[in-house]
Amino acid sequence: MTIDRLSPDLLSVNQARAVVATEVRALARSPDPAGASWQRLRDALVSLATMEGSVPLDAGRRIELQTIAQSRGIHTIEETRGQLGHEASLVPDRLGFRLRVREGSFPPRKRASIAHEIGHSHFFDTSRLPPTRLIARSPDPGVSVKEEELCWAYARALLMPADHVERAWESRGITAWATIEAIGEDFEVSTELAARRLIQDLDVQPNCVAFFFATQVEPGASEREAKRYAGSRVRDLFTRPEFKASVSMIEAALEDKAPQGELDLAARRSGLWSVIDVRQRHVMERYLASVLLSAAEDLPPTLGL
Ligand SMILES: [Zn+2]
Repeated sequence: MTIDRLSPDLLSVNQARAVVATEVRALARSPDPAGASWQRLRDALVSLATMEGSVPLDAGRRIELQTIAQSRGIHTIEETRGQLGHEASLVPDRLGFRLRVREGSFPPRKRASIAHEIGHSHFFDTSRLPPTRLIARSPDPGVSVKEEELCWAYARALLMPADHVERAWESRGITAWATIEAIGEDFEVSTELAARRLIQDLDVQPNCVAFFFATQVEPGASEREAKRYAGSRVRDLFTRPEFKASVSMIEAALEDKAPQGELDLAARRSGLWSVIDVRQRHVMERYLASVLLSAAEDLPPTLGL
């Protein structure tokens, strides 16, 4: 197929993929990939996801992941059992990749895992079969932490295209947790992913920070699992002195399995907008509680604090 026969959309997706590949190769050549800045690669991945996701979305606003996965050489998406600690994995083989997802995963989580694993495919040289990793695994966990974070950023941008999400947010007109939840349902993603996309990535609500923390790591969970959320950027915000008192109060309330009414009360007393225990909404998200925080004096009066 000649270049002029490719649709402009496909052409720009291919160009964006080439930019991603260039950035991954640059990091692979770096003497210290863990210490290098990954910002350019992050930008390239997010803009690629934006292009891949910029398809007309009508009913259900559902991005078709299957087609995108196939175009990345993922020939099979299958459900498997017995991969504790792994929600999904990408297995290179003679034909490209096999993508394995944990059996029985709840649908929004499964979609998020598939999108995330498509992100990982960009870290491989797919001109070889089986595809090989471009950035070697190293004893320094810095590389895999950065790669994980980038693959999630890619997944969020792919599953919740900025234009569509911002339009959905504006059309609802009410800045409440229920709005985030409803938008999450529209895009078939978890409330947690929707909150990260809306507040963390797109900054739709001024003076507002979403916190996700791991008070509920299951007994017996590996140390690695416990650190998974502790290492995230939002977790770091907990260490800010101005939030410390509020955070310990909320952690205590969550520990006591306080009902939503009590959490709301605790939130208002400490000048927060809202506190949500996501575990009560989605059993599968039991590791996370999430909190929406805002300094009371900065809040618009419509929020009624
Ligand atoms: Zn991953």
